[in-house]
Amino acid sequence: MRTEKRLKARDTRISAFVSVMRGCDHHCTYCVVPNTRGKEDSRPLEEIVEECRILVGEGAREITLLGQNIDSYGKRLQPRRRSLAELLYAVAAIDGLWRLRFITSHPSDLRPELFSAFADLPNLMPYLHFPAQSGSDSVLARMRRGYTHARYMELVAAARNAVPDIGLAGDTIVGFCGETEADYQQTLELHRNTQYQTSFIFMYSEREFTPAITQGLADDVSPEDKKRRCHELMDLQREWSKQINQQRVGQVVQVLGEGESKRNPQRQEGRNPQNQIVIAESGRDLRGELYNVKIERATNAALYGTLV
Ligand code: SF4
Repeated sequence: MRTEKRLKARDTRISAFVSVMRGCDHHCTYCVVPNTRGKEDSRPLEEIVEECRILVGEGAREITLLGQNIDSYGKRLQPRRRSLAELLYAVAAIDGLWRLRFITSHPSDLRPELFSAFADLPNLMPYLHFPAQSGSDSVLARMRRGYTHARYMELVAAARNAVPDIGLAGDTIVGFCGETEADYQQTLELHRNTQYQTSFIFMYSEREFTPAITQGLADDVSPEDKKRRCHELMDLQREWSKQINQQRVGQVVQVLGEGESKRNPQRQEGRNPQNQIVIAESGRDLRGELYNVKIERATNAALYGTLV
């Protein structure tokens, strides 16, 4: 939910975001969504395709399809069930759509067969937002996520096998009810082995009307431990993100321009297919254009280079 809010802030004419469903059928114990938005309700496929077609007609070149648990898109649609793969193929076929993305994937519902869509559809970008939330099986069970650390890693391996250059992003909650130091070490191990390009890390805090509250799961990790684990994981993730970004140095990457950089108007900002931010000097506005940049240096947050 937080990711959706962040991305909406980026909604521009060039890069548009389209909700494909509301609600969620999962009951993760820390989450209010099933309570506030109800059960999954998918929009008809044709209606979504039509909205995307209109957006492309108005100038959108990139569309991100949004769903709390997008892998289960369409399962209750009538007169027949639809799938995320069907939706991706239909939207990707829109003339003039350069880039297509989808978020957020749930490890219980993601089907490895979906990865063939990345090979078939040149405008489906190699990026997967794939939250694990924890690396500890006992915490995952208390969160009611419906998978184990091992299953998550199998899916990461399947994604990397099918799409070797895929950009992976994760979400992690530290300090969930009953999380021990050993549980937290499992989360560190999952991060270390997954090598997320980016990861959004949160400290657990109680939310009204969540199953954690109604079932009496005690918020028993001390604020100090939560803070320490969160800061340590964030620091490590910054280091890993920097290393992953630095692997791009020397490569030429294709960028969809989003306009001048907020920090320096002499520079243009955009994103590569893996959704990494790319910054390059340019004498003109490159918003809405596809251009190539040779990467010369990288930080944990962005790639920097020269137009080629
Ligand atoms: S999958 Fe879990 S965390 Fe995500 S919206 Fe559904 S209940 Fe919430």
